[in-house]
Amino acid sequence: MSISAEHALTGYINALRPLIYINHFDFHAVDELIKNVSEGIDIYEYNNAVGRCNFETKLQPSSSIGRPDLSTFLELFDGNEPRKAFVILKDVHYFLNDPAIAGRLKSIAERTMFSDDYYVTIFLVCSQFILPQELEKMTTVFDIPLPDVDGIENIIKDYVHDFKIPMDSDVLNDLKVKFRGLSEFEIRQILNLAYQQSGMIDEQSATLILKEKEQIIRKSGILELVNDDSSMEDIGGLAGLKYYLESKALIFKELGRATVFGVDMPKGILIVGFPGCGKTLSAKATAKLFDVPLLRLDIGKLMGKYVGESENNLRRAIKTAEAVAPCVLWIDEVEKAFSGIGGISGASDITTRLFGQFLTWMQEKKDAVYVVATSNDIAKLPPEFLRRGRFDELFLVDFPDKNERKEIFENLLNRKNKLTSQIDIIKLLEKYTSDDKFQCKGTAGFSGADILSVVKETIDTAFISGNGSITTKALQNTINETIPLKETIKDEIAKMEDKYKKYNFKSANKLPNNITGR
Ligand code: ATP
Repeated sequence: MSISAEHALTGYINALRPLIYINHFDFHAVDELIKNVSEGIDIYEYNNAVGRCNFETKLQPSSSIGRPDLSTFLELFDGNEPRKAFVILKDVHYFLNDPAIAGRLKSIAERTMFSDDYYVTIFLVCSQFILPQELEKMTTVFDIPLPDVDGIENIIKDYVHDFKIPMDSDVLNDLKVKFRGLSEFEIRQILNLAYQQSGMIDEQSATLILKEKEQIIRKSGILELVNDDSSMEDIGGLAGLKYYLESKALIFKELGRATVFGVDMPKGILIVGFPGCGKTLSAKATAKLFDVPLLRLDIGKLMGKYVGESENNLRRAIKTAEAVAPCVLWIDEVEKAFSGIGGISGASDITTRLFGQFLTWMQEKKDAVYVVATSNDIAKLPPEFLRRGRFDELFLVDFPDKNERKEIFENLLNRKNKLTSQIDIIKLLEKYTSDDKFQCKGTAGFSGADILSVVKETIDTAFISGNGSITTKALQNTINETIPLKETIKDEIAKMEDKYKKYNFKSANKLPNNITGR
């Protein structure tokens, strides 16, 4: 366990925090941590599996007859005589909602806070997070920090030293970054597995790390692992956004080298803009471009019914994302998640706290978790979100211009294997009148999603009518029948346009001024 974890925990103990909640699965690691900060203080343990037990041997004391309940055990510490002890309660989360247990814990906590000569620190070490309201104020939630790159380097070096495994420095540099986000226990398990399987630790061990990280996401149940094949080539237009992301991709693809070189880890981007113009597609394609897993965070799913549960869920989601790093963390319709902030209802209180927690993480984050947040309605987003320091860049996705619409048509038709010499895309882009007076209104003002619907509809019609191929005329007919979203929700689009003008977003559609196409 790292020195920084011991230092942080000692700080809380010295500050007389009476109840310390450690939500962790690896009880062995927690025992080691508490032991290292106990310095001669007696440690008492109550474990849900066996009841009272000896902290060192985990055996029940020989004097105990049967298994005392938790309440009886806690009585031992709720007296007036001077006391100095650590009390570890393991996996007792289901008992905490019992008023008698919560009351007893509160009484012990108050003694520690207000009586001289009475110092009993209670550690609630639980694999789940359940905290009743009456204990919330006096409880400190302690997250065991995961090893940093230096710590990981030491773990790997110790391991290869113990087993006399040769390892070159490039492999060490690569693995120490990829192991980030995993606990010492998990790192050792992967090293063991890699060594068992191949008799060495090399570049191939990285695939085991990825597999382990995928398991972590699935087990967490809080993030969704999105399997999507969308790539930058599928995006028509959005040259500015693509150009920007391609420059960041290099860092993610060579994370080990970039970290050693001292590159600051990119935080992420916020993509705002009109509906159906490729925000989601871009988020998905970013993961493919960076060659990392795509995780989706649904903030609505974090809301829990117990006090502090939502915050704990967000903490777990963040820890999971960090464990999986390097990765892209996609937050869709982020305005929905954080709307209602600053309101007076209980729910908005929780949202406000979650939002603060999220912003702090964004500000301080060092791991290779690249956040891509997407939003349609910035009016519902708290202004703090748009402030510098949170995201590296804020992009505005506009309706595609003529050239971009051409690319979108090409991409979508190509993907369906329908781009043939019978199709002249130029005749689909703007108002067009043919020699025989046939008119097509063109696709000015169409979003990418509108174009997708034109292509789909034309393919469906061609299939139903038994036409083997798609023609320009068929596409033009569908275009004439299509009312784009920009017209359907005209007033809302006008309001959005007004709002976007007030902010200095970077254009996702255009290349920066100093770059002239590639
Ligand atoms: P919303 O705000 O409504 O969620 P969005 O901006 O996230 O919309 P997407 O979901 O990315 O839009 O787009 C919907 C579909 O439209 C995409 O799956 C894609 O097929 C097509 N599309 C949109 N924009 C583009 C584009 N620039 N290039 C290629 N296809 C696009």
